[in-house]
Amino acid sequence: MDNAPGKKMLESAQALIRKTAEKMKLDEETIKRLIEPEFAHEFALTVKMDNGKKKVFKGWRIQHNSALGPYKGGIRFHPETIREEVQALATLMSIKCAVAGLPYGGGKGGIVVDPKKLSKTELERLSRAFAARIAHVIGEDVDVPAPDVNTTPEIMSWMIDEYQKIKGFKSPATFTGKPVSMGGSLGRTEATGRGGLFVLQALLEKLAKEGQTLTVAVQGFGNVGYFFAKLAHEAGFKVVAVSDSRGGVYNKDGLDPVAVMAFKRKKGVVSGYSGKKVSNEELLTLPVDILVPAALENVVNEKNAAKVKARIILEMANGPLTEEAYLALSKKGVTIVPDVLANSGGVTVSYLEWVQGKAGYWWSEEEVNAKLKEMIVRAFTAIWDKSKEKKMPLKQAAFEVAIERITSAMV
Ligand code: GLU
Repeated sequence: MDNAPGKKMLESAQALIRKTAEKMKLDEETIKRLIEPEFAHEFALTVKMDNGKKKVFKGWRIQHNSALGPYKGGIRFHPETIREEVQALATLMSIKCAVAGLPYGGGKGGIVVDPKKLSKTELERLSRAFAARIAHVIGEDVDVPAPDVNTTPEIMSWMIDEYQKIKGFKSPATFTGKPVSMGGSLGRTEATGRGGLFVLQALLEKLAKEGQTLTVAVQGFGNVGYFFAKLAHEAGFKVVAVSDSRGGVYNKDGLDPVAVMAFKRKKGVVSGYSGKKVSNEELLTLPVDILVPAALENVVNEKNAAKVKARIILEMANGPLTEEAYLALSKKGVTIVPDVLANSGGVTVSYLEWVQGKAGYWWSEEEVNAKLKEMIVRAFTAIWDKSKEKKMPLKQAAFEVAIERITSAMV
């Protein structure tokens, strides 16, 4: 299937690595090592459906770079995922883990499937089949998978159970994002949203904009968007718009994300909650201070970038801005916090889960949140300082910091 967004995302990630590395005067072979994945596992999974018939699903686990440590990254279940998208996301994980200061390389997995069309038992069989297929190429010191788009703690619990059965021993640090009852970490579910809020607050402090009531529009009401909206609302931001895949709601007086979620649980959608109905496209161009794309990639592109009114964009999804949109908006003076920093709270708490799993010793939620804050603010400060020192946007600065860290660990 032709999927331009995934291909474009890979091209942009590779082009940015090349551009940054060339500026840093790295040699061609080093640049190739930074671009090419170390392993790309591609497979077909055969799963028995509830009607007794067998169905084949295409899947990947791509292990991009392991200079800094074991590969780390989520597994995505999406009907339109393709190899290039999984590779792009694996590449971005190498950059993200380096930006976040974690002892990990980057990896990503994907299955071409619409999980909403599967029954729970079919979903479990598919998840177990995936874990069984990758069991011989992952491990707590090899490659540590986690959730991504459409994958949940429950899916991680099926995967780790399957993995441990095959291996014949317990290994809680081989998957992260597990339910707390199976060795997960407190605070992991909210971590990506919470980390994004910490980064936003650190940025506003630098921009001397704290203390004002700033308006926020959040696209996406899944794990990332919902918790970001909820925590931002609690922190005093005015969340005026939210959306899910079927549309959104805008209320200039502000929304309470918890109440919107209660509505969505009842009705299945956020659209229809009290306020004005807006499409996902309209949400991106609302008159707000801060835009938070927290769903899928390439939603802000050359077609709508000129209409974006926000002065700050926090990339909570992976790759929500195309290269063209990013350049055009940066030129206009919009501050864009790149995905590899903004959404790194998820993998940072995955790291804390991994440390706890390896040690067999678990921290309280307060301890986890405090460690997340310290680590992500440290990551932000390094990128901010680099961007000031080199007079470059945060995204370029993030790539430069990451490439410095990765290459310094390459022999
Ligand atoms: N899927 C998340 C991401 O893209 C989390 C990865 C992880 O925790 O390993 O950052």
